[in-house]
Amino acid sequence: MIVMKFGGTSLGDADRIKNACNIVKSKLKKKPIVVVSAVSGMTNMLIKLANENSFEKRKKISAKIKDKHLDILKNLNIESSLLKEDLNELEDSVDKIKDNNIDAKTFDLIQSFGERMSSKIVAAQLSNIGIESQAYNSYDLGFLTDDEFGSAEPLDITHSNLRKEIKKIHAVPVITGFLGKTKDGQITTIGRGGSDFTTSIVGAAIDAKEIQIWTDVDGIMSTDPKIVVNAQTISEVSFAEAFELAYFGARVLHPKSILPAMKKNIPVMVLNSFNSDHNGTTILTKVKQNDSTVRAIAYKKNITLVNIQSTRMFGAHGFLARLFNIFEKYKKSVDVIATSEVSVSLTVNNDKNIDDILNELKEISNVNIRENKSIICIVGEGMRNTLGVAGRTFSTMGKNNINIELISQGASEINITFIVDGNDTDKAINALHKEYFGK
Ligand code: ASP
Ligand code: MG
Repeated sequence: MIVMKFGGTSLGDADRIKNACNIVKSKLKKKPIVVVSAVSGMTNMLIKLANENSFEKRKKISAKIKDKHLDILKNLNIESSLLKEDLNELEDSVDKIKDNNIDAKTFDLIQSFGERMSSKIVAAQLSNIGIESQAYNSYDLGFLTDDEFGSAEPLDITHSNLRKEIKKIHAVPVITGFLGKTKDGQITTIGRGGSDFTTSIVGAAIDAKEIQIWTDVDGIMSTDPKIVVNAQTISEVSFAEAFELAYFGARVLHPKSILPAMKKNIPVMVLNSFNSDHNGTTILTKVKQNDSTVRAIAYKKNITLVNIQSTRMFGAHGFLARLFNIFEKYKKSVDVIATSEVSVSLTVNNDKNIDDILNELKEISNVNIRENKSIICIVGEGMRNTLGVAGRTFSTMGKNNINIELISQGASEINITFIVDGNDTDKAINALHKEYFGK
């Protein structure tokens, strides 16, 4: 068995849905289980709808949502009755929203219609092309979560539930990504982009042979092709590498989504539904070493660098704990850190929470911040056994007159991460790509 996930862009309109279903058809021998996102742009529309304060505007958006789905059905020659119940229920839920006042439960409920409808459409289209298929809400197959609406965590029992329920199914199942239910029956969502996570959980639960993530690019790239025109697809990456890359902005896979597959050692392929003959990228536990020690270059823009200095830190214990408690208190995650005896430099995403954090930091230390920085992260398992990657990297920066403000190499030794000024980002990435990929 394999699990095939189609994201929103692969389900953009009737033609894209036909295309996705033809891809499923071409893999029938592998016994596919299909997981889907909402059709393209739908989750954003549903969120807009839920957040809209005026009744009239809500009505307008929900009419648009309805039209978009009915239009797809029409173009696929599917009876509109397929979605009648969902559309009515959506309408009812929208009517119940009080202006300026939507609770987290209703917010998730409203978002859920995206996947609930797309799964039915895809199953119906599979039937149209002669494949016996059935749509399922993940929670009807036992996908249970806690009650953190908006970012619910699957309960342990979900794995055995899914395993049991999916085994019973004979037709090709098309399962909703992104959704779960609490034990007492409330629909939850597991975080934006969560369909990849659903897919990985389903794959792990049934011990899938492989997981295929069908998206709109030819796999994971050596770097962002918007910055380096010669960026190339990486044919294989290790889970550890993919994890670093996902975290630092290679916008292909949700980092968390890789974990269940990784634990079960299931290869995850990232494939392009617009270019289905391309081999894409396969993420594996152990990858052949290629000549390049560096597998890819990732980056994150709009970073704030926080430099913290305290003479009190000298020889004292407990300072770092106090420091990080402040970040913990504001639920602010820190990406990169470097410390010396009396100073700590770290990076955070630039947003509004930062002022409160700075004020508290000032009570225990001298703080200065520098905004508009970028994190650059070069990743490769090969770096572990190769001397001089750091030297090569930083002399490349030096030759290009790029100042480096903070350097960090994690214990895993498969990445070197450093900070440059935001204005130097593209130049730095181009220079490094040339150095390590020859173009
Ligand atoms: N439809 C959800 C979203 O857009 C989940 C997903 O696409 O993975 O975030
Ligand atoms: Mg999506």
